[in-house]
Amino acid sequence: MALDYNLLDVRVDLKAVRANFKLLQGHCRGCMVVVKADGYGHGLLEVARGLSLDGARMFAVGAVSEGVRLREAGLPGRILSLLGPQDMREAKAVAGQNLLPLIYRLDQLQMLAEATAGRPQQIALKLDTGMRRLGFTPEDLPALLDQLQKAKNLEPVLAMSHLATADDPNQAEFVQEQAARFQQCRAQFERRGLNLEYSMVNSAGLLGYPELHFDIQRPGISLYGVNPFHGTAWEAKGTGLQPTMTANAPVLQVHTLKKGESISYGRTFTAEEDLTVAIVAMGYADCISRSLSNKSYVCLHGQRARILGRVCMQLTAVDVTHIPQTVASDTAWILGGPGPGAITANDLAGWWDTIPYEVFCLLGLNRRV
Ligand SMILES: *Cc1c(COP(=O)(O)O)cnc(C)c1O
Repeated sequence: MALDYNLLDVRVDLKAVRANFKLLQGHCRGCMVVVKADGYGHGLLEVARGLSLDGARMFAVGAVSEGVRLREAGLPGRILSLLGPQDMREAKAVAGQNLLPLIYRLDQLQMLAEATAGRPQQIALKLDTGMRRLGFTPEDLPALLDQLQKAKNLEPVLAMSHLATADDPNQAEFVQEQAARFQQCRAQFERRGLNLEYSMVNSAGLLGYPELHFDIQRPGISLYGVNPFHGTAWEAKGTGLQPTMTANAPVLQVHTLKKGESISYGRTFTAEEDLTVAIVAMGYADCISRSLSNKSYVCLHGQRARILGRVCMQLTAVDVTHIPQTVASDTAWILGGPGPGAITANDLAGWWDTIPYEVFCLLGLNRRV
């Protein structure tokens, strides 16, 4: 989306996203699909429109501007802005485009009250139950409730919190601590006679903690085909999701690297025997991190080919000695690919020392629209 010099071709399989949504709907009571950060790099409008066709009626975006983009594209339903309004202009956009702003500071209430000038405006409240990022703690609620009584046109409809450890079965205890704090908040709202909807779970919470589903669930990464319990004892709870993103680039040249010859900057790899190498048109300018040097693989002709030496700005060398049919213009996949050598988002994230979320956000920058 933001890059136009690259040969890396990133594709999104919208059918797979939609199939994942259908599978997740089987677990959801009220599904709010998370499409923040350009749909985790998959395309905000494309994903939201596609899921809307399958009956999605609630969407969570990050910035207010993403919500405005969805409305301007004609998307109906409830659109929650997780980052909330930052200034008067955004507060007016929230009101004008009928977005649901997530409120986590008292001064946002004043700003919204001013922007709406007495017209009714629904709001969502962010509760901090242990993440310690944004939101009101149980101790903050009395002051919040007092403020809300003054801003009569602002109507809270949803209270939500976010789990810090839902994807790690070894940290289930902290999930329960957060849940207990969430219930304390809920009791305070109910004592004041507020009738809200409640929401606590992300993908991992949705699949792992049915008792915490409350009214609305907020799957993100699972829509994009990643099992949040990958590599844990709860792996079986997240099976059946389909991969949604692929990334490939052409081979530009194939040649022999003779025994004793080094390859790429800094000479970090030297051949111990004669090898055949393919030079692929991908590099850190395409968000293929240089930290994948000598670590990662691509998929070529359905097989894995190891990266040799440093990843460069727009070029990467791979070992194709065992794939002798490789020629220039062949396709090398850094994500996805045909056959048994296909690379999953979890594979790539592991070599990259990160998580699939970051892989999608970064590679998604290459998406052509
Ligand atoms: C991103 C996000 C989600 C989705 O989380 P996944 O782990 O991707 O399912 C849910 N809720 C909030 C508040 C988020 O920021």
